[in-house]
Amino acid sequence: MSDINSDLKLFNELVENLLNEEKLNPVADRIEANKLYDSVDLSLNEAPMMDEEFKNALRNVLVSTPKTATNLFFNQLFGGRQGKAVLGDLLAVMLNNSMYTYKVAGPQVGIEQEIIKKSCDLIGYGAKSNGTFPTGGSMSNYMALVMARDAKDPNCKAKGILKPMIIYTSKESHYSTTKNASFAGMGQDNIRYIETDSNGKMIPQRLEQQIITDLENGMVPTYVNATAGTTVLGAFDPIDKIADLTEKYNLWLHIDGAYCGGAIFSEQYKHLLSGMERSNSFSYNAHKMLGTPLTCSIILVNDKKHLHHSFSIEASYLYQTDGDDFNLGKTSFQCGRRNDALKFWTLWKSVGTNGLQQIIDQQFKLADVARQYIRSNSDYTLYSFDDSVSICFNYKNIDPTALCTALYEHQVTVVGFGSFNEDTFVRLVTVNANNSEVDILNFFKVLEDFVEKNPALALGECIEAKTV
Ligand SMILES: *Cc1c(COP(=O)(O)O)cnc(C)c1O
Repeated sequence: MSDINSDLKLFNELVENLLNEEKLNPVADRIEANKLYDSVDLSLNEAPMMDEEFKNALRNVLVSTPKTATNLFFNQLFGGRQGKAVLGDLLAVMLNNSMYTYKVAGPQVGIEQEIIKKSCDLIGYGAKSNGTFPTGGSMSNYMALVMARDAKDPNCKAKGILKPMIIYTSKESHYSTTKNASFAGMGQDNIRYIETDSNGKMIPQRLEQQIITDLENGMVPTYVNATAGTTVLGAFDPIDKIADLTEKYNLWLHIDGAYCGGAIFSEQYKHLLSGMERSNSFSYNAHKMLGTPLTCSIILVNDKKHLHHSFSIEASYLYQTDGDDFNLGKTSFQCGRRNDALKFWTLWKSVGTNGLQQIIDQQFKLADVARQYIRSNSDYTLYSFDDSVSICFNYKNIDPTALCTALYEHQVTVVGFGSFNEDTFVRLVTVNANNSEVDILNFFKVLEDFVEKNPALALGECIEAKTV
């Protein structure tokens, strides 16, 4: 067995290669899925692999793995690399604590709590607030739903659901709500997908009509999921108006800010979340707009009693010292839990809250640059709206699904497509705060050059994939 020092040396060497490679080839060599096992040696064998050979095997895997930190990666909702956050995550791996007890996590408990407390302050939650770091945004939404269910009927935990409990979310919301409804025993048929306006925001009047109908039918309206940054359009549901209804009818209000909840850090953009302090829970993914490594998701609750009620179980084998405030396993879903807080803390500590604000504002600024470009060029059609970091467009009436796939297959740039109502379009996301205006303009340039070189695209014909 080799000692850790030589492994760390190898790590540095590989990372140096990777960083050079990212500069030279911002889009990784693509291996067709059906040729994967023939192209790279991924096999696990009886015999050990020796040093040089092992190093080469790792190098091969690295060059062909999609590069998410470069200035040509614009796919789903994360990208770039914040060095100070990477540092924190590497340290978390070295320390390898589990976050369930103070006994094994020590100051890391305080690090997590400090992030939670500062985030609650930014939202405007009071002294009873708290939170935890779930495995991701989907899990954050799940925990919120379970708390809502148990708050509506405290006997649910023991007896199960007795009467249909109804969930409200917009048609544009993330699919995790659909999955979570079944996991929580509430049933996918008990979800009401509320219509959105032409900008993709939930229509509060429609929500109220639906709640009234459900009450008339003897159902139990329980939970409203409002989205801060819908997955496709990046739209913000009108939280204040929705909160009027959740207060009037006594429903739980959760804000799914996985994508754009990071706007709480921005003086300029936090108005998009106005009314957020009236919610019962709020979640955001620091691995999206704030650029920490995956995953770093935080759920905050206005009143921590709900976290305890739904998630704490006595376990004398585990909780042997210190109090509940320091034994974070009392409020988490899982038992052993990775330290996702340190990477966010090292970033926040080093750049300050002002620096986090700049990270958020930069993305909105890059989005403005992209929209401006699209609006001033008649070959483009814009489908998305201001105050969003998702820029949805089509170019020269080219089928967006064919275009995105061809751009990817030819290693030009990595970008996805989406749909809203009847339209399908390319969706550029400006979530890499390390990008500058030049990088955004370069994205359009590489796209246009590619289309020019491949006129078949404009005619709706398939073009052959480049293979390596
Ligand atoms: C990304 C996203 C999620 C899911 O978060 P994961 O960390 O990927 O599970 C939920 N809601 C919205 C709005 C998202 O954009």
